[in-house]
Amino acid sequence: MEKELTLNPFKIVQEQIENVGDVLGLSKDVVEVLKWPKRVLSVSIPVKMDDGSTKVFLGYRSQHNDALGPAKGGIRFHPDVTIDEVMALSMWMTLKCGVVGVPYGGGKGGVACNPKEMSQGEIEKVARGYIDGIWQFIGPEKDIPAPDVYTNPQIMAWMMDEYSKLKGYNVFGVITGKPLLLGGSEGRNMATAIGTLYTIREGVKVVGINLKGATVSVQGFGNAGFFAAKLLYDDGAKIVAVSDSKGGIYSEEGLDPYKVSEHKKKTGSVVGFPNTKEIGPKDTLTIPCDIVVPAALENQITTENANEVKAKIVAEAANGPTTPEADKIIAEKGILMLPDILTNAGGVTVSYFEWVQNNYGYYWSEEEVLDKLERIMVNAFKNVYEMYKEKKIDMRTAAGAVSIKRVVDAMKLRGWV
Ligand code: NAD
Repeated sequence: MEKELTLNPFKIVQEQIENVGDVLGLSKDVVEVLKWPKRVLSVSIPVKMDDGSTKVFLGYRSQHNDALGPAKGGIRFHPDVTIDEVMALSMWMTLKCGVVGVPYGGGKGGVACNPKEMSQGEIEKVARGYIDGIWQFIGPEKDIPAPDVYTNPQIMAWMMDEYSKLKGYNVFGVITGKPLLLGGSEGRNMATAIGTLYTIREGVKVVGINLKGATVSVQGFGNAGFFAAKLLYDDGAKIVAVSDSKGGIYSEEGLDPYKVSEHKKKTGSVVGFPNTKEIGPKDTLTIPCDIVVPAALENQITTENANEVKAKIVAEAANGPTTPEADKIIAEKGILMLPDILTNAGGVTVSYFEWVQNNYGYYWSEEEVLDKLERIMVNAFKNVYEMYKEKKIDMRTAAGAVSIKRVVDAMKLRGWV
């Protein structure tokens, strides 16, 4: 496993930035600037728990680069949160914002805690305590957090409220992914998956397959995975397999994601859906089909299974599902990789729309939001695909190059490098 020792996400993203630096012919010192976050905050959050004890939670916020605008990125509540992971995710956010051209830099935050074992009251105290720790360093013009793993619109509402109390007036634009009533945007719920759909629609054109009737397998059946399966199904694709953490299901005739979702709501898993063959959670990645959509976790396509991937397109709705070594195998096999920083950028793009609407105090219809999203995603795909063709590099490096070029041009114009 020597080759895959680089599974530390911070090392992975640093390596990706170095690769992009080579492609763009950037000097070593400019690459060095990009390899480190500009600011990383570490806070301790003491919380009086329901049983009367006091527990200390550790939280982090990383702001990678703000040459193009304020930092932007989610807040994760998960027991495995580490400072390295938060820094890496903030760097991927810089790349993601740059690919779609939204005027932001990268940020990310996290608190090491397990919300599954906490009451709503305890989660609220952690959320407010986290904002108390970082509020001087965030704001609509500085750094705008959003939801991520195990955080949701309710938690965003508490955080926005805490920030507003500290400032003394309502600041809706400090956080995105809020409930609609408190300045959220129409379309935010499905935004990531819709962005994935728009990217796949462009991808099938260059590969020469018809999305109508194309076979699709989706790993993960949460926000990104369920909506991706549903939207692709609505577009005429045949969903042959889906999985969640408990296992997967396969049907040669195709699955109806709406019915699978009903089944999951009743039983807690997609497994056991009638007239399907049970498969493992990771088998969805290697099953014969035209398009694979990883929409669960990082490090799912590795050197162990990359050779077994049979699809013509891998569309990464998840963040970091393919390791760098597996990436090379996928490229050698001639599979079109639609990388995460492009394919799941619909979420941050609609977050940007939410912030714009908050700044305006004027709100758009869902149709307006989706129309604007489509134009941005299609344009981003075209830019990445042109870079891929022109430089004869893999799609992930091409996406990184489109993005880093923007960031570096901005840094040069500002006189930073
Ligand atoms: P979620 O918690 O709603 O869903 C995650 C799904 O993955 C669940 O169905 C879970 O059962 C499944 N899963 C967990 N372990 C699995 C395994 N070993 N095999 C198969 N399935 C497994 O999370 P989400 O918001 O859908 O996020 C999924 C991925 O998409 C993450 O990488 C996230 O960073 C990325 N993403 C999400 C958004 C968004 O707006 N939701 C935006 C950008 C990127």
